[in-house]
Amino acid sequence: MSTTAAPVPICHAPRASSGAQQDLMPRRYNLGVQALSIAAFTLAFVGWLNETWLMWFDNPIWLNRYTEYAIILSFGIWRIIAENNAYTRKRLIILVSMVTLFWWLLPWLFPFYEPYVGFLWAQPVFPSVHVPGALTFFLILGLVFLFGRRIICGFNCPCVGIRETVGFAFRDRTLRSNWAWALRHSKWVFFLYYVGVMVVTQFPPNSWTVTFVGGFYLVVAMTYFGSFYLAPLVGNRFYCRYLCPYGATFGLLNHAGFYGINMDKDKCNDCRRCEQVCDMGIPVWKQGKDSGRVTALEDCMGCARCVVSCPTDALEIRDVRNLFKKSMKQNASYLLKREPLVDVSRKEASMRPVEARKLDWAEIAVKPMLADIQAQASRCLDCGVPGCSNACPLHNRIPEWMEQIAAGNIREAAQIAHSTSNLPEICGTLCPQHRLCEGACTRVKERGGAVTIGMVERYLTNEALEQNWQLAQPPQRNDKYIAVIGAGPAGMTCADELSKAGCQVEVFDKNPKIGGLMENGVPSFKLDKSFLVRRQRLLEQQGVVFHVGEEIAEGKLQQLLLSHDAIFLGTGAQFPRDPKLPGQQLSGVSDALAWLTNSQPIENQRVIVLGGGDSAMDCARTAIRKGASTVTVAYRDTEQAMRASPKEKKAAQEEGVAFLFEHKPVAIQGEGAVTGISFDAHCETVLLPCDKIIIAIGQVNRTPDWLKRLGIAATEKGAMAVDKLGRTGHPRIYAGGDNTLGPALVVTAVAAGRRAAQGILKDLRIRTRRLS
Ligand SMILES: Cc1cc2nc3c(=O)[nH]c(=O)nc-3n(C[C@H](O)[C@H](O)[C@H](O)COP(=O)(O)OP(=O)(O)OC[C@H]3O[C@@H](n4cnc5c(N)ncnc54)[C@H](O)[C@@H]3O)c2cc1C
Ligand code: SF4
Ligand code: SF4
Ligand code: SF4
Repeated sequence: MSTTAAPVPICHAPRASSGAQQDLMPRRYNLGVQALSIAAFTLAFVGWLNETWLMWFDNPIWLNRYTEYAIILSFGIWRIIAENNAYTRKRLIILVSMVTLFWWLLPWLFPFYEPYVGFLWAQPVFPSVHVPGALTFFLILGLVFLFGRRIICGFNCPCVGIRETVGFAFRDRTLRSNWAWALRHSKWVFFLYYVGVMVVTQFPPNSWTVTFVGGFYLVVAMTYFGSFYLAPLVGNRFYCRYLCPYGATFGLLNHAGFYGINMDKDKCNDCRRCEQVCDMGIPVWKQGKDSGRVTALEDCMGCARCVVSCPTDALEIRDVRNLFKKSMKQNASYLLKREPLVDVSRKEASMRPVEARKLDWAEIAVKPMLADIQAQASRCLDCGVPGCSNACPLHNRIPEWMEQIAAGNIREAAQIAHSTSNLPEICGTLCPQHRLCEGACTRVKERGGAVTIGMVERYLTNEALEQNWQLAQPPQRNDKYIAVIGAGPAGMTCADELSKAGCQVEVFDKNPKIGGLMENGVPSFKLDKSFLVRRQRLLEQQGVVFHVGEEIAEGKLQQLLLSHDAIFLGTGAQFPRDPKLPGQQLSGVSDALAWLTNSQPIENQRVIVLGGGDSAMDCARTAIRKGASTVTVAYRDTEQAMRASPKEKKAAQEEGVAFLFEHKPVAIQGEGAVTGISFDAHCETVLLPCDKIIIAIGQVNRTPDWLKRLGIAATEKGAMAVDKLGRTGHPRIYAGGDNTLGPALVVTAVAAGRRAAQGILKDLRIRTRRLS
């Protein structure tokens, strides 16, 4: 059994949208919008069938080939109004107008232009626009050669017209895998077919060529219409990507002519928006990074979505005009006529003055102003592949709440935050963001720095809860009883998820207060403990029952197994790691947890803390507040190897903590009580006098024998062995958090609690309904 779940690779998770919003990034539309699209397209299809084949209704105005253009026009107007991006809106206006004019109005108003799109010897089949074919044929080829962009495809094609307007509801399904990309060459098969058609139409017809050309017409028409029905599975541009013979020709000219899309690799910050917005599935970012330009121009229809979505102006379109005007840069700023973006710099929450904060135990961070939070949130680029979400163990929908909070929508942001996390305000406060979300933010490489995700997450949740924003209440209770042992983040999360699903949940903890190490380890100057009290109240309102001060051992667990359908163990890893140091039993030596939970003052004592993680910082800063005369953190490795968050280390330094690096402890000195400690430092023995030594080198797991007797296996490191849904060897006992992962983080415990809840619900066959 594996002990951890593999992280899920995340691409851009499309935003749910009402249909009244559309922007460059594909959105997820509700079933009503999707059904409307398919129904409208079906009407267009039936119109075409009616006029060309079925002739059911004698070509009424509402059911002939023009039905399609009327639908493009109506959906087009909807899309133009809903579109947020100025350039795309302009292009849609051109596309819809051109299609309406050339493919509907002109042929309708002037019937002598009525095209004979079937097989007619005197008239070139290509291109089937409603002006004399040969002229437009060469005109269009010339334009594509000079300006590229498959001109017709992006600006005048009815096929694109219907896919960009009626098909907009399926943009988020665009296939982006390697094989989907490799398959694009299939349109050359159709290209060869149509070259054959062009050749045979130059000769007098015979029964073979009539069948051949008729077949071509049927194939193009059927794939043109039929492929739309695949849109819910493969995206709106299946026909253009894989089937369109015209697209193949224009694509070739894109390559041969002056057209190009260049990437300034130095400006690119790898946000990969360009890749996610391309409905043709072109790996724009990858190709740009490999060669400084988009090499798959044969597939590019010049919609410029990639260019106008690039936040750094790294992409630029080039065409014949660049030959004469070298300085012309058709990048996002140029196309959108926008001023170069003025960036707001990263700003973290301010800290209270050092002298004041050293004297009390209150949180050191000052609550930021909403305006600051909005400014920081607006720095988020809504990346195509959001590194932040990928790196967050909960895969939080960060760009989505950033968008909401930037607009001042606190409740909407809190709603999104709660859809993936049960303790967002606590994770936002305690997570070591520099090695999770913020460390993976694409903006981390920029001068302005990563987006301040943690601060925003904490603010939006805390603010929403302070404003009495209500979490959704659970549905009707079911008849499942669950016992949760341990009220740390893993247990609280599991209880929350199960209770939201309607189960009756009881939580047991041996401590008098809930929170686990968030209560008994993390000092209050780092986390306002009223957050835990508030979470307990919210859980109780939801129906969760807490039994605090009640330790669960073998006998009680057996009883709980009789009265409950499932048991979750969120018991943590709270056994101090043994440093195996001579003298560690002396008075004045203590482990981190004992030190942090003991509130006795230590005026004028010299304290040495052994360790280099966040717990060591907590112990040192606690010593400062307890009145120590000097506090020194001694770490065995280099400064660079220290695991502590830079912000925690900085806070400790500001508060007066000294640091020694590459000091490996050898022995603790003293008789009865500690008087000093010797280190091996750069191959020399150094003796430092002190009155207290705190060993902050982490905790270990110990799975008790009685649990092993119940079938719960232990890993080599003593943690409980579970599968990816928290199942242990016992069919009704689940586990998660530090007791399965080893000492880790609040956020990993929350993730484990969620996974185990999923496992329990799955095994108890309880269907879930998302509440928040
Ligand atoms: C000093 C310190 C600072 C930390 N700082 C951070 C930080 O800044 N950021 C961060 O992300 N993480 C931090 N952590 C780690 C984080 O707190 C833990 O990873 C997290 O709390 C683990 O959650 P858990 O629910 O698995 O276990 P715990 O939080 O350990 O909770 C387990 C609970 O189970 C109860 N329990 C155990 N056995 C029984 C039993 N038999 N019967 C009844 N109850 C029982 C315990 O009383 C406890 O309340 C820190 C840890 C320490 C020690
Ligand atoms: S959108 Fe621009 S910055 Fe982002 S990956 Fe593409 S080229 Fe780079
Ligand atoms: S839970 Fe932690 S890692 Fe995830 S977004 Fe929040 S602060 Fe970042
Ligand atoms: S927070 Fe950073 S990585 Fe995440 S979407 Fe925003 S800019 Fe991109």
